[in-house]
Amino acid sequence: MAKKKSQSELHCIYCGRNELEGASILPSPNMDGGVCIDCLEAAANMLGLIEEPDSNNSTASRARAKYHKTNPGAATVAASQSPKKVPTPGEIKDFLDQYIIGQEQAKRYLSVAVYNHYKRLDQPIDDNGVEIEKSNIIMVGPTGTGKTLIARTIAKQLDVPFTIVDATVLTQAGYVGEDIESLLTRLLQAADYDVKRAERGIVFIDEIDKIARKGDNPSITRDVGGEGVQQGLLKLLEGSVVNVPPQGGRKHPEQPMIAVDTKNILFICGGAFEGIEQAIAHRLNSSFVGFSTGEGTKRVDRDNLMQHVAPQDLRTFGLIPEIIGRLPILTHLLPLDRNALRKILTEPKNAIIRQYEKLFEMDGVKLIFRPDALEFIVDKAIEYKLGARGLRSIVETIMMNAMFEMPTAKPESFTVDSDYCRLQLEAAHFDAQAV
Ligand code: ADP
Repeated sequence: MAKKKSQSELHCIYCGRNELEGASILPSPNMDGGVCIDCLEAAANMLGLIEEPDSNNSTASRARAKYHKTNPGAATVAASQSPKKVPTPGEIKDFLDQYIIGQEQAKRYLSVAVYNHYKRLDQPIDDNGVEIEKSNIIMVGPTGTGKTLIARTIAKQLDVPFTIVDATVLTQAGYVGEDIESLLTRLLQAADYDVKRAERGIVFIDEIDKIARKGDNPSITRDVGGEGVQQGLLKLLEGSVVNVPPQGGRKHPEQPMIAVDTKNILFICGGAFEGIEQAIAHRLNSSFVGFSTGEGTKRVDRDNLMQHVAPQDLRTFGLIPEIIGRLPILTHLLPLDRNALRKILTEPKNAIIRQYEKLFEMDGVKLIFRPDALEFIVDKAIEYKLGARGLRSIVETIMMNAMFEMPTAKPESFTVDSDYCRLQLEAAHFDAQAV
Protein backbone atom coordinates (compact mmCIF):
# COMPACT_ATOMS: atom_id res chain seq x y z
CA MET A 1 0.00 0.00 0.00
CA ALA A 2 1.34 3.44 -0.94
CA LYS A 3 2.55 5.46 2.05
CA LYS A 4 0.72 8.76 2.55
CA LYS A 5 2.96 11.77 2.02
CA SER A 6 3.68 14.27 4.78
CA GLN A 7 2.09 17.73 4.36
CA SER A 8 5.46 19.32 3.35
CA GLU A 9 5.93 16.76 0.56
CA LEU A 10 2.56 17.49 -1.03
CA HIS A 11 2.64 19.12 -4.42
CA CYS A 12 -0.01 20.81 -6.53
CA ILE A 13 -1.10 18.48 -9.29
CA TYR A 14 -1.62 21.51 -11.60
CA CYS A 15 1.43 23.76 -11.15
CA GLY A 16 3.76 21.24 -9.52
CA ARG A 17 4.84 23.48 -6.63
CA ASN A 18 5.06 21.99 -3.15
CA GLU A 19 4.62 23.57 0.26
CA LEU A 20 8.35 24.13 0.68
CA GLU A 21 8.12 26.39 -2.38
CA GLY A 22 5.45 28.50 -0.72
CA ALA A 23 2.28 26.90 -2.09
CA SER A 24 -0.65 26.31 0.32
CA ILE A 25 -2.08 22.99 -0.70
CA LEU A 26 -5.54 21.64 -0.26
CA PRO A 27 -4.75 17.91 0.01
CA SER A 28 -6.68 15.27 -1.87
CA PRO A 29 -8.55 12.77 0.36
CA ASN A 30 -5.81 10.13 0.07
CA MET A 31 -3.06 12.72 0.73
CA ASP A 32 -0.95 11.88 -2.35
CA GLY A 33 -1.30 15.29 -3.95
CA GLY A 34 -3.56 18.31 -3.94
CA VAL A 35 -4.43 21.66 -5.44
CA CYS A 36 -2.76 24.87 -4.36
CA ILE A 37 -4.79 27.96 -3.45
CA ASP A 38 -3.52 29.90 -6.48
CA CYS A 39 -4.75 27.22 -8.87
CA LEU A 40 -8.07 27.02 -7.05
CA GLU A 41 -8.50 30.77 -7.47
CA ALA A 42 -7.61 30.57 -11.14
CA ALA A 43 -10.23 27.83 -11.58
CA ALA A 44 -12.86 29.86 -9.75
CA ASN A 45 -12.04 32.84 -11.97
CA MET A 46 -12.44 30.75 -15.09
CA LEU A 47 -15.84 29.67 -13.90
CA GLY A 48 -16.75 33.29 -13.09
CA LEU A 49 -17.29 32.44 -9.43
CA ILE A 50 -15.06 35.23 -8.13
CA GLU A 51 -13.79 38.33 -9.73
CA GLU A 52 -10.43 39.93 -9.26
CA PRO A 53 -11.10 43.66 -9.14
CA ASP A 54 -8.01 44.51 -11.12
CA SER A 55 -7.82 41.59 -13.45
CA ASN A 56 -8.07 42.68 -17.05
CA ASN A 57 -10.87 40.22 -17.62
CA SER A 58 -13.16 41.28 -14.79
CA THR A 59 -16.58 42.76 -15.50
CA ALA A 60 -15.40 45.92 -13.75
CA SER A 61 -12.33 46.24 -15.98
CA ARG A 62 -14.31 45.66 -19.12
CA ALA A 63 -16.89 48.21 -17.98
CA ARG A 64 -14.10 50.68 -17.19
CA ALA A 65 -12.59 50.27 -20.67
CA LYS A 66 -16.00 50.71 -22.29
CA TYR A 67 -16.76 53.77 -20.15
CA HIS A 68 -13.49 55.45 -21.14
CA LYS A 69 -14.12 54.68 -24.78
CA THR A 70 -17.53 56.40 -24.71
CA ASN A 71 -16.45 59.16 -22.28
CA PRO A 72 -12.94 60.13 -23.39
CA GLY A 73 -12.75 63.02 -20.92
CA ALA A 74 -13.69 60.95 -17.88
CA ALA A 75 -11.29 61.37 -15.00
CA THR A 76 -9.24 58.46 -13.80
CA VAL A 77 -8.99 58.26 -10.06
CA ALA A 78 -6.13 57.05 -7.93
CA ALA A 79 -6.52 53.54 -6.65
CA SER A 80 -6.38 54.42 -2.95
CA GLN A 81 -9.22 52.75 -1.11
CA SER A 82 -9.75 55.05 1.82
CA PRO A 83 -10.13 58.79 1.98
CA LYS A 84 -7.08 60.87 2.72
CA LYS A 85 -6.64 61.53 6.44
CA VAL A 86 -10.17 61.98 7.75
CA PRO A 87 -10.57 65.53 9.03
CA THR A 88 -12.31 66.29 12.33
CA PRO A 89 -15.88 67.66 12.37
CA GLY A 90 -14.42 71.12 13.06
CA GLU A 91 -12.14 70.88 10.05
CA ILE A 92 -14.98 69.66 7.83
CA LYS A 93 -17.18 72.54 8.99
CA ASP A 94 -14.37 75.08 8.39
CA PHE A 95 -14.01 73.75 4.88
CA LEU A 96 -17.77 73.94 4.27
CA ASP A 97 -17.81 77.52 5.58
CA GLN A 98 -15.49 78.52 2.75
CA TYR A 99 -18.08 77.52 0.17
CA ILE A 100 -21.52 77.61 1.78
CA ILE A 101 -23.19 80.66 3.23
CA GLY A 102 -25.39 80.15 6.31
CA GLN A 103 -27.11 76.76 6.85
CA GLU A 104 -25.28 76.36 10.13
CA GLN A 105 -27.22 73.38 11.43
CA ALA A 106 -26.94 71.39 8.22
CA LYS A 107 -23.19 72.03 8.01
CA ARG A 108 -22.63 70.94 11.63
CA TYR A 109 -24.78 67.82 11.34
CA LEU A 110 -23.14 66.77 8.09
CA SER A 111 -19.65 67.34 9.50
CA VAL A 112 -20.33 65.10 12.49
CA ALA A 113 -22.12 62.45 10.43
CA VAL A 114 -19.35 62.19 7.85
CA TYR A 115 -16.65 62.10 10.52
CA ASN A 116 -18.46 59.29 12.35
CA HIS A 117 -19.02 57.44 9.12
CA TYR A 118 -15.32 57.26 8.39
CA LYS A 119 -14.50 56.46 12.00
CA ARG A 120 -16.89 53.59 11.65
CA LEU A 121 -15.06 52.33 8.56
CA ASP A 122 -11.84 52.19 10.51
CA GLN A 123 -13.35 50.61 13.62
CA PRO A 124 -11.37 47.68 14.97
CA ILE A 125 -13.22 44.46 15.74
CA ASP A 126 -14.57 44.95 19.23
CA ASP A 127 -14.53 42.05 21.71
CA ASN A 128 -17.53 43.53 23.49
CA GLY A 129 -19.59 43.44 20.32
CA VAL A 130 -19.98 47.20 20.07
CA GLU A 131 -20.43 48.04 16.44
CA ILE A 132 -20.96 51.60 15.29
CA GLU A 133 -23.94 51.60 12.97
CA LYS A 134 -24.20 53.51 9.74
CA SER A 135 -25.93 56.89 9.86
CA ASN A 136 -27.28 58.00 6.52
CA ILE A 137 -28.49 61.56 6.30
CA ILE A 138 -31.55 63.40 5.05
CA MET A 139 -31.59 67.13 4.36
CA VAL A 140 -34.88 68.93 4.02
CA GLY A 141 -35.04 72.43 2.59
CA PRO A 142 -36.23 74.55 -0.30
CA THR A 143 -34.64 74.04 -3.69
CA GLY A 144 -31.49 76.05 -4.40
CA THR A 145 -30.48 76.52 -0.78
CA GLY A 146 -27.27 74.49 -0.85
CA LYS A 147 -28.15 70.83 -0.23
CA THR A 148 -26.24 69.52 -3.24
CA LEU A 149 -23.46 72.03 -2.70
CA ILE A 150 -22.87 70.79 0.86
CA ALA A 151 -22.74 67.14 -0.20
CA ARG A 152 -20.47 67.92 -3.16
CA THR A 153 -18.13 70.04 -1.05
CA ILE A 154 -17.74 67.32 1.56
CA ALA A 155 -16.91 64.75 -1.10
CA LYS A 156 -14.30 67.13 -2.51
CA GLN A 157 -12.62 67.47 0.85
CA LEU A 158 -12.58 63.76 1.54
CA ASP A 159 -11.42 62.72 -1.88
CA VAL A 160 -13.85 59.82 -2.11
CA PRO A 161 -16.00 58.87 -5.10
CA PHE A 162 -19.15 60.92 -5.08
CA THR A 163 -22.21 60.90 -7.24
CA ILE A 164 -25.52 62.71 -7.46
CA VAL A 165 -28.57 60.79 -8.57
CA ASP A 166 -32.06 61.98 -9.07
CA ALA A 167 -34.67 59.85 -7.33
CA THR A 168 -37.28 60.79 -9.94
CA VAL A 169 -35.68 58.63 -12.65
CA LEU A 170 -35.88 55.52 -10.51
CA THR A 171 -38.79 53.16 -10.82
CA GLN A 172 -39.78 49.88 -9.32
CA ALA A 173 -38.21 46.88 -11.10
CA GLY A 174 -40.13 45.92 -14.20
CA TYR A 175 -41.36 49.41 -15.09
CA VAL A 176 -40.11 52.03 -17.52
CA GLY A 177 -37.27 54.00 -15.99
CA GLU A 178 -34.02 53.06 -14.29
CA ASP A 179 -33.58 50.18 -11.87
CA ILE A 180 -32.72 51.32 -8.39
CA GLU A 181 -29.36 49.54 -8.47
CA SER A 182 -28.34 51.71 -11.41
CA LEU A 183 -27.69 54.58 -9.02
CA LEU A 184 -24.61 52.65 -7.97
CA THR A 185 -23.44 52.55 -11.59
CA ARG A 186 -22.73 56.26 -11.36
CA LEU A 187 -20.73 55.71 -8.19
CA LEU A 188 -18.72 52.98 -9.90
CA GLN A 189 -18.02 55.36 -12.75
CA ALA A 190 -16.94 58.06 -10.30
CA ALA A 191 -14.54 55.49 -8.81
CA ASP A 192 -13.34 54.51 -12.27
CA TYR A 193 -14.82 51.06 -11.63
CA ASP A 194 -12.59 50.46 -8.63
CA VAL A 195 -15.19 48.49 -6.68
CA LYS A 196 -13.41 48.71 -3.32
CA ARG A 197 -13.15 52.48 -3.62
CA ALA A 198 -16.78 52.83 -4.68
CA GLU A 199 -17.80 50.81 -1.64
CA ARG A 200 -16.57 53.66 0.60
CA GLY A 201 -18.04 56.48 -1.43
CA ILE A 202 -20.90 58.91 -0.99
CA VAL A 203 -24.16 58.91 -2.95
CA PHE A 204 -26.33 62.00 -2.91
CA ILE A 205 -29.93 61.13 -3.75
CA ASP A 206 -31.67 64.31 -4.80
CA GLU A 207 -35.43 64.85 -4.85
CA ILE A 208 -36.11 62.05 -2.41
CA ASP A 209 -39.44 63.78 -1.69
CA LYS A 210 -40.60 62.92 -5.22
CA ILE A 211 -40.77 59.22 -4.36
CA ALA A 212 -43.11 59.84 -1.45
CA ARG A 213 -46.20 57.66 -1.36
CA LYS A 214 -48.86 59.41 -3.40
CA GLY A 215 -51.81 58.61 -1.19
CA ASP A 216 -52.79 56.57 1.81
CA ASN A 217 -54.10 53.79 -0.37
CA PRO A 218 -51.44 52.84 -2.91
CA SER A 219 -53.52 49.99 -4.31
CA ILE A 220 -55.98 52.31 -6.10
CA THR A 221 -53.43 53.29 -8.71
CA ARG A 222 -50.13 51.52 -8.91
CA ASP A 223 -47.50 53.67 -7.27
CA VAL A 224 -44.51 52.50 -9.34
CA GLY A 225 -42.47 55.59 -8.71
CA GLY A 226 -43.33 55.90 -5.04
CA GLU A 227 -43.53 53.21 -2.40
CA GLY A 228 -42.06 50.53 -4.68
CA VAL A 229 -38.95 52.64 -5.18
CA GLN A 230 -38.72 53.33 -1.48
CA GLN A 231 -38.78 49.58 -0.79
CA GLY A 232 -36.01 49.05 -3.33
CA LEU A 233 -33.98 51.88 -1.93
CA LEU A 234 -34.27 50.44 1.54
CA LYS A 235 -32.09 47.49 0.56
CA LEU A 236 -29.30 49.84 -0.51
CA LEU A 237 -29.56 52.07 2.55
CA GLU A 238 -29.50 49.11 4.93
CA GLY A 239 -26.33 47.73 3.46
CA SER A 240 -26.33 44.66 1.29
CA VAL A 241 -24.53 43.20 -1.68
CA VAL A 242 -26.31 44.26 -4.84
CA ASN A 243 -25.69 43.40 -8.47
CA VAL A 244 -25.07 46.56 -10.41
CA PRO A 245 -25.46 46.84 -14.18
CA PRO A 246 -22.04 48.18 -15.31
CA GLN A 247 -23.50 50.64 -17.81
CA GLY A 248 -26.64 51.54 -15.85
CA GLY A 249 -30.20 51.55 -17.14
CA ARG A 250 -32.23 48.36 -17.02
CA LYS A 251 -30.86 45.04 -15.93
CA HIS A 252 -31.21 42.11 -18.29
CA PRO A 253 -30.45 38.47 -17.64
CA GLU A 254 -27.44 38.01 -19.97
CA GLN A 255 -25.66 41.10 -18.75
CA PRO A 256 -22.69 40.49 -16.44
CA MET A 257 -23.11 42.36 -13.16
CA ILE A 258 -20.71 43.90 -10.71
CA ALA A 259 -21.35 42.99 -7.08
CA VAL A 260 -21.19 46.05 -4.83
CA ASP A 261 -21.52 45.97 -1.06
CA THR A 262 -23.39 49.07 0.11
CA LYS A 263 -22.60 48.52 3.80
CA ASN A 264 -20.04 51.29 3.88
CA ILE A 265 -21.51 53.64 1.31
CA LEU A 266 -22.79 56.84 2.86
CA PHE A 267 -26.15 57.92 1.50
CA ILE A 268 -27.13 61.56 1.78
CA CYS A 269 -30.68 62.33 0.69
CA GLY A 270 -32.08 65.74 -0.08
CA GLY A 271 -35.49 67.09 -0.92
CA ALA A 272 -37.55 70.26 -0.90
CA PHE A 273 -40.60 68.53 0.65
CA GLU A 274 -42.80 71.33 -0.56
CA GLY A 275 -45.77 71.76 1.72
CA ILE A 276 -44.24 69.90 4.66
CA GLU A 277 -44.64 73.08 6.69
CA GLN A 278 -48.34 72.30 7.03
CA ALA A 279 -47.50 68.97 8.62
CA ILE A 280 -45.02 70.65 10.93
CA ALA A 281 -47.49 73.36 11.88
CA HIS A 282 -50.19 70.79 12.46
CA ARG A 283 -47.93 68.75 14.68
CA LEU A 284 -46.84 71.77 16.62
CA ASN A 285 -50.49 72.47 17.10
CA SER A 286 -49.95 75.92 15.75
CA SER A 287 -52.44 76.26 12.95
CA PHE A 288 -52.61 79.86 14.05
CA VAL A 289 -49.04 80.30 12.83
CA GLY A 290 -48.33 83.93 12.15
CA PHE A 291 -51.92 85.00 12.74
CA SER A 292 -52.32 84.82 16.46
CA THR A 293 -52.42 88.04 18.40
CA GLY A 294 -53.75 86.55 21.61
CA GLU A 295 -51.61 86.72 24.70
CA GLY A 296 -49.64 83.67 25.66
CA THR A 297 -50.05 81.89 22.33
CA LYS A 298 -46.85 80.54 20.90
CA ARG A 299 -45.84 82.36 17.76
CA VAL A 300 -43.87 80.43 15.24
CA ASP A 301 -42.25 82.25 12.38
CA ARG A 302 -43.72 80.85 9.17
CA ASP A 303 -40.41 81.10 7.32
CA ASN A 304 -38.65 79.17 10.00
CA LEU A 305 -41.09 76.30 10.42
CA MET A 306 -38.62 74.04 8.63
CA GLN A 307 -36.28 74.19 11.59
CA HIS A 308 -38.82 72.14 13.58
CA VAL A 309 -38.95 69.29 11.06
CA ALA A 310 -39.10 65.86 12.69
CA PRO A 311 -39.19 62.27 11.39
CA GLN A 312 -42.97 62.03 11.83
CA ASP A 313 -43.42 64.94 9.38
CA LEU A 314 -41.55 62.94 6.74
CA ARG A 315 -43.94 60.09 7.40
CA THR A 316 -46.94 62.35 6.99
CA PHE A 317 -45.40 63.52 3.74
CA GLY A 318 -45.29 59.93 2.43
CA LEU A 319 -41.92 58.38 3.23
CA ILE A 320 -42.30 54.88 4.63
CA PRO A 321 -41.17 54.39 8.26
CA GLU A 322 -38.45 51.90 7.26
CA ILE A 323 -36.79 54.48 5.01
CA ILE A 324 -37.02 57.15 7.70
CA GLY A 325 -35.43 54.69 10.13
CA ARG A 326 -32.50 54.27 7.74
CA LEU A 327 -31.95 58.01 7.54
CA PRO A 328 -31.40 58.72 11.21
CA ILE A 329 -29.74 62.10 10.76
CA LEU A 330 -32.35 64.65 9.82
CA THR A 331 -31.40 68.25 9.23
CA HIS A 332 -32.91 71.26 7.50
CA LEU A 333 -31.87 74.15 5.33
CA LEU A 334 -33.51 77.53 5.55
CA PRO A 335 -34.63 79.73 2.68
CA LEU A 336 -31.90 82.18 1.66
CA ASP A 337 -32.69 85.74 2.59
CA ARG A 338 -31.44 88.87 0.89
CA ASN A 339 -28.39 89.08 3.07
CA ALA A 340 -27.40 85.48 2.27
CA LEU A 341 -27.87 86.02 -1.48
CA ARG A 342 -25.67 89.11 -1.32
CA LYS A 343 -22.95 87.13 0.44
CA ILE A 344 -23.22 84.23 -2.02
CA LEU A 345 -22.28 86.63 -4.81
CA THR A 346 -18.90 87.51 -3.35
CA GLU A 347 -17.90 85.51 -0.28
CA PRO A 348 -17.58 81.80 -1.08
CA LYS A 349 -14.17 80.68 -2.26
CA ASN A 350 -15.47 80.20 -5.79
CA ALA A 351 -18.10 82.96 -5.64
CA ILE A 352 -19.61 83.99 -8.97
CA ILE A 353 -18.11 87.48 -8.88
CA ARG A 354 -14.67 86.08 -8.05
CA GLN A 355 -14.92 83.79 -11.04
CA TYR A 356 -15.63 86.72 -13.35
CA GLU A 357 -12.79 88.73 -11.83
CA LYS A 358 -10.49 85.83 -12.61
CA LEU A 359 -11.78 85.50 -16.17
CA PHE A 360 -11.09 89.19 -16.83
CA GLU A 361 -7.75 89.10 -15.06
CA MET A 362 -6.64 86.42 -17.51
CA ASP A 363 -7.10 89.05 -20.22
CA GLY A 364 -5.26 91.66 -18.14
CA VAL A 365 -8.46 93.57 -17.25
CA LYS A 366 -9.30 94.52 -13.65
CA LEU A 367 -13.02 93.94 -13.15
CA ILE A 368 -14.77 96.06 -10.52
CA PHE A 369 -18.33 95.36 -9.34
CA ARG A 370 -19.72 98.39 -7.52
CA PRO A 371 -21.85 97.64 -4.42
CA ASP A 372 -24.97 99.09 -6.12
CA ALA A 373 -24.50 96.55 -8.93
CA LEU A 374 -24.45 93.71 -6.42
CA GLU A 375 -27.61 95.01 -4.73
CA PHE A 376 -29.27 95.26 -8.14
CA ILE A 377 -28.42 91.63 -8.95
CA VAL A 378 -29.82 90.43 -5.62
CA ASP A 379 -33.00 92.49 -6.19
CA LYS A 380 -33.54 90.81 -9.54
CA ALA A 381 -32.97 87.32 -8.12
CA ILE A 382 -35.63 88.04 -5.49
CA GLU A 383 -38.01 89.78 -7.89
CA TYR A 384 -38.00 86.83 -10.27
CA LYS A 385 -37.97 84.30 -7.42
CA LEU A 386 -34.83 82.72 -8.86
CA GLY A 387 -32.98 82.23 -5.57
CA ALA A 388 -29.28 81.46 -5.49
CA ARG A 389 -29.46 79.51 -8.76
CA GLY A 390 -30.65 82.64 -10.53
CA LEU A 391 -27.68 84.72 -9.46
CA ARG A 392 -25.44 83.07 -11.98
CA SER A 393 -27.84 83.47 -14.92
CA ILE A 394 -28.35 87.15 -14.07
CA VAL A 395 -24.63 87.85 -13.86
CA GLU A 396 -24.02 85.83 -16.98
CA THR A 397 -26.55 87.93 -18.92
CA ILE A 398 -25.11 91.20 -17.58
CA MET A 399 -21.56 90.24 -18.48
CA MET A 400 -22.18 88.76 -21.93
CA ASN A 401 -21.36 91.88 -23.97
CA ALA A 402 -18.38 92.78 -21.81
CA MET A 403 -17.01 89.26 -22.18
CA PHE A 404 -17.33 89.61 -25.93
CA GLU A 405 -15.60 92.98 -26.11
CA MET A 406 -12.97 93.02 -23.37
CA PRO A 407 -10.53 90.49 -24.81
CA THR A 408 -10.17 92.77 -27.88
CA ALA A 409 -10.44 96.18 -26.21
CA LYS A 410 -8.24 95.18 -23.23
CA PRO A 411 -8.81 98.27 -21.07
CA GLU A 412 -6.95 98.44 -17.79
CA SER A 413 -10.16 98.12 -15.82
CA PHE A 414 -13.87 97.68 -16.32
CA THR A 415 -16.47 98.87 -13.79
CA VAL A 416 -19.97 97.43 -13.47
CA ASP A 417 -22.61 99.56 -11.72
CA SER A 418 -26.39 99.21 -11.36
CA ASP A 419 -27.09 101.32 -14.49
CA TYR A 420 -24.91 99.07 -16.59
CA CYS A 421 -26.68 95.99 -15.14
CA ARG A 422 -30.11 97.42 -15.91
CA LEU A 423 -29.16 98.30 -19.50
CA GLN A 424 -27.71 94.87 -20.16
CA LEU A 425 -30.71 93.00 -18.76
CA GLU A 426 -33.09 95.18 -20.79
CA ALA A 427 -31.08 94.69 -23.96
CA ALA A 428 -31.17 90.93 -23.42
CA HIS A 429 -34.92 90.98 -22.58
CA PHE A 430 -34.06 89.18 -19.39
CA ASP A 431 -37.44 89.85 -17.79
CA ALA A 432 -39.15 88.00 -20.64
CA GLN A 433 -36.85 85.01 -20.16
CA ALA A 434 -37.07 84.95 -16.39
CA VAL A 435 -40.85 84.94 -16.00
P1 ADP B 1 -30.30 72.41 -3.74
O1 ADP B 1 -29.53 71.14 -3.83
O2 ADP B 1 -30.63 72.78 -2.33
O3 ADP B 1 -31.49 72.48 -4.64
P2 ADP B 1 -27.86 73.60 -4.75
O4 ADP B 1 -26.92 73.18 -3.68
O5 ADP B 1 -27.79 72.84 -6.03
O6 ADP B 1 -29.37 73.61 -4.23
O7 ADP B 1 -27.65 75.15 -5.05
C1 ADP B 1 -27.66 75.70 -6.35
C2 ADP B 1 -26.57 76.73 -6.48
O8 ADP B 1 -26.90 77.88 -5.72
C3 ADP B 1 -25.23 76.25 -5.95
O9 ADP B 1 -24.46 75.64 -6.93
C4 ADP B 1 -24.60 77.53 -5.46
O10 ADP B 1 -23.99 78.24 -6.54
C5 ADP B 1 -25.76 78.35 -4.99
N1 ADP B 1 -26.06 78.21 -3.54
C6 ADP B 1 -27.20 77.74 -3.02
N2 ADP B 1 -27.18 77.80 -1.69
C7 ADP B 1 -25.99 78.30 -1.35
C8 ADP B 1 -25.37 78.62 -0.10
N3 ADP B 1 -25.99 78.40 1.07
N4 ADP B 1 -24.12 79.14 -0.12
C9 ADP B 1 -23.49 79.37 -1.31
N5 ADP B 1 -24.01 79.11 -2.51
C10 ADP B 1 -25.26 78.59 -2.54
